[in-house]
Amino acid sequence: MRIGVLASQGAFAEHIDILRQLEVEASPVRLPQELRGLDGLVIPGGESTSISKLMLSYNLMDEIRNLAKNGLPMLGSCAGMILLASKISDLDVELIGVMDIAVRRNAFGRQRESFETELSMPVLGEKPFPGIFIRAPMIEQASSEVEILARLADGTGVAAREGKLLASAFHPELTSDLRFHQYFLDIVVECRKSGLNKV
Ligand code: GLN
Repeated sequence: MRIGVLASQGAFAEHIDILRQLEVEASPVRLPQELRGLDGLVIPGGESTSISKLMLSYNLMDEIRNLAKNGLPMLGSCAGMILLASKISDLDVELIGVMDIAVRRNAFGRQRESFETELSMPVLGEKPFPGIFIRAPMIEQASSEVEILARLADGTGVAAREGKLLASAFHPELTSDLRFHQYFLDIVVECRKSGLNKV
């Protein structure tokens, strides 16, 4: 199994590290040809405007969008979630735009720019997951196709799945808890079994 991690900008090294801890082959993706033969792709956190611009300059935007539409499993964290969303209230850059969620950037304001909180995420089991939020977005709306996997105490959606696409407002790559990445790999394995994600 080979997972690519978009390495235009942001926290890609940490994702590669976690994937390797889970004993999968993980490789950085900076150019379109590095997308070939992948079983899944991670879009990391960072600065969504910069990532979007770099994706366009390196001809990655259309390629990645097509792969998502053709069923390649993807995990977007933080800025990665912004890029996967189809709607965003305050951003004028091109998005991959394949998940039916509306997202607000920097949604927690200055006072809560960075925080850590335990999240209940039933798909990962009973033990709470350490949610690390850094100038994080929130999910404002989601279509009925989307499953909200985790919410803050006030009900704000912070993780979602739509088919083979997974997104988190927090940074699962900054904890030593591997369960969120393992959950993503389970989606990839399911997909490989059904032969749906050949690229
Ligand atoms: N605030 C960033 C953005 O809008 C996301 C922050 C992050 O990925 N940690 O793109």
